[in-house]
Amino acid sequence: MQQVTPQVFTFERLLMGRVYALQDADGLTLVDTSISNAADKILSQLQQAGHKPADVKRILVTHAHPDHVGSLPKLQHATGAEVWCHPLEKPVIEGRQPLARPPSGLRPPALQFAPVPVARTLNEDEILPILGGLQVISTPGHAPGHISFWQPERRLLIVGDAVFYFFNRMTQPLAALTVDMEENRRSIKKITTLKPDSLLFGHGNPIIGQASAQLDAFARRIGV
Ligand SMILES: [Zn+2]
Ligand SMILES: [Zn+2]
Repeated sequence: MQQVTPQVFTFERLLMGRVYALQDADGLTLVDTSISNAADKILSQLQQAGHKPADVKRILVTHAHPDHVGSLPKLQHATGAEVWCHPLEKPVIEGRQPLARPPSGLRPPALQFAPVPVARTLNEDEILPILGGLQVISTPGHAPGHISFWQPERRLLIVGDAVFYFFNRMTQPLAALTVDMEENRRSIKKITTLKPDSLLFGHGNPIIGQASAQLDAFARRIGV
């Protein structure tokens, strides 16, 4: 794994869906888990960085798409970590409800995984004991219970799939895989008001420093 900014790391060579590790005195927090074959890569990169699986205390889930929760069962089992997510994503992760279907009729690839118990549900404005205080920001649209994570002192936003960053260009998530594009646009508008300095995407390289200008230009380009 590779350091992105102090206390924040990301994993290398995952095929799809970026995973972050946040380091605190009590251990590590993972944000998302990539696709189903990523668990061994994540565990071995943790080990190479000197961590034991049990150092992972919790796994935050931005939303329950297969490229974000694919390796969740294996990682949760290997680490014993608690899984935290929004109440609307919990029944999907626990295998009690199918993924919300986008209006395109295209269903995201089926979740072929063992249900995982969710230990804690996260609501708007909750402050989590991570990175000195990590605020839950509700950013629905791409998925009903999509959430982002905001560290106000560092002006750092983990944005999940509310915004993609491909080839150094921000884009909206694919409409075919998004439950409500208008709602996602409102979520994009909402995060511009935070004026983030760093943006950590679910897809694409993180932007560290001066992210707000790019985010504002993107918001103008898409008219939100
Ligand atoms: Zn997604
Ligand atoms: Zn994704």
